[in-house]
Amino acid sequence: MYDFIIVGGGIIGMSTAMQLLERYPDKKLLLIEKESGPARHQTGHNSGVIHAGVYYTPGSLKARFCLQGNIDTKRFCDENGIRYDACGKLLVATNTLEMERMKALWERTEANGLERYWLSAEELREREPNITGLGGILVPSSGIVNYAEVTEAMAGRIRAMGGEVRYETEVIGLKEKATDVEVTTPQGSLSGRYLITCSGLMADRVVRMLGHEPDFRICPFRGEYYLLPPEHNRIVKHLIYPIPDPGMPFLGVHLTRMIDGTVTVGPNAVLAWKREGYRKTDFSLSDSLETLGYAGIRKVLRANLKPGLVELKNSLFKGGYLKEVQKYCPSISREDLKSYPAGVRAQAVSRDGKLVDDFLFVKTGRTINVCNAPSPAATSALPIGRHIIAEAQQQFGLK
Ligand SMILES: Cc1cc2nc3c(=O)[nH]c(=O)nc-3n(C[C@H](O)[C@H](O)[C@H](O)COP(=O)(O)OP(=O)(O)OC[C@H]3O[C@@H](n4cnc5c(N)ncnc54)[C@H](O)[C@@H]3O)c2cc1C
Repeated sequence: MYDFIIVGGGIIGMSTAMQLLERYPDKKLLLIEKESGPARHQTGHNSGVIHAGVYYTPGSLKARFCLQGNIDTKRFCDENGIRYDACGKLLVATNTLEMERMKALWERTEANGLERYWLSAEELREREPNITGLGGILVPSSGIVNYAEVTEAMAGRIRAMGGEVRYETEVIGLKEKATDVEVTTPQGSLSGRYLITCSGLMADRVVRMLGHEPDFRICPFRGEYYLLPPEHNRIVKHLIYPIPDPGMPFLGVHLTRMIDGTVTVGPNAVLAWKREGYRKTDFSLSDSLETLGYAGIRKVLRANLKPGLVELKNSLFKGGYLKEVQKYCPSISREDLKSYPAGVRAQAVSRDGKLVDDFLFVKTGRTINVCNAPSPAATSALPIGRHIIAEAQQQFGLK
């Protein structure tokens, strides 16, 4: 019997497993992942930004974890020889409404304790000649990394400490008993004293396997990108973000320098017709029925009809997407937008129609299930892992 079984080879599962073994080196730990390697879903299909923690409500778990995660991620990269670039982020205001919103964001960055600089239009132009705006906020601590590499390094550390990592092992059944949890996979049954699941897009289905009806559902939102051609690899020095609508801080196409030297434009946010579908044409009838059959998700779609339709239009027609980025980077043309793989976000939606904003855990006697770990959870993966361990110590009575 294993002491701990962790489900999910994304960055949250790996970070939790790695830090559990650091804390309990004598325990027997197994991490299982259904794909043939780590980071095949959200962790391997994201913008690769080490966020600084600009937008989040001061004092919230999201804000605290992001601030600490920014430091921890860079330290982990230094210790494990992983390349990252602390290139900084520029939030750019392009009209008077955004200038007003920028002032509010400036206050928030202060409350979140971030180092940041207010830039005039001229200072903005000096730093970024290809970007136009009325002003901007520079946040130097933002950076870029390849989170798949970070996750791979965590898997290496788990194995080096004597833990087991098994790929191509899908959990298809769970049974919580008095002394252990039985985990069924196509290859046979496994038994763990305690179970921690970090299953991203499948979180609600995993909770259901435990015999509990979750009071939320995972709504998959595609995040689509374009890639700029190589001659634009030096178009910007920083990550360039628009000033967001405070009600929808996750919307807004940004220009992201990637750690491989390329630059992407995106992502948007449109409903996905398949939970793990990365191509535009991917469609699953059962996934779609499950999504649209949930009253909470229908409420979210109704309440956000207008921005949702704009996102959909921009997804279907390059022109809309182009307009978004040309607001602050006018030299980009339609021909510059090359195709690039999308990501799919796992967003928990509550029964009463709310996008769950913070982390969500469902706990039972012997299990902890991570049910909402939205952006910036890749940045925050190390503090989130420590938080899950603290929860486990309390829940399972571990010393
Ligand atoms: C488009 C996009 C852009 C983003 N940009 C950023 C960013 O720039 N910076 C940032 O900090 N965050 C970003 N995020 C958020 C970040 O990527 C996620 O919050 C984070 O990767 C979540 O990690 P995870 O381990 O919870 O989930 P995942 O990486 O999705 O991992 C879950 C794993 O569980 C496995 N699994 C599921 N069910 C089973 C089962 N039954 N049996 C076995 N295995 C199972 C899956 O195969 C998967 O590998 C972005 C996300 C998206 C989608």
